[in-house]
Amino acid sequence: MMQRQCAWCLRLMDSIGEPISSIPVPKMYEASHGICRVCGNLWLEAVLQDTEKQAVVQPVPVEVDTRGICQEKNAEWQTCLEARSF
Ligand SMILES: [Zn+2]
Repeated sequence: MMQRQCAWCLRLMDSIGEPISSIPVPKMYEASHGICRVCGNLWLEAVLQDTEKQAVVQPVPVEVDTRGICQEKNAEWQTCLEARSF
């Protein structure tokens, strides 16, 4: 039977991603690698936290900002874009 190993914590896991060893084992190249349920949850939490942070900051898209400035100055869009490429 093909062994499965979590590529994150290096613990062996069963076919549904439940860790079946409590300690990491050396990386087995013949095993199929994935992410175990424990690491999957941690990863998901990190992603959700990142998403929340981004939602709070809500940066103004640069393109919209510069386009507004260019239109104010009646500059040709492409010229303006080149002039403003940092
Ligand atoms: Zn894991």
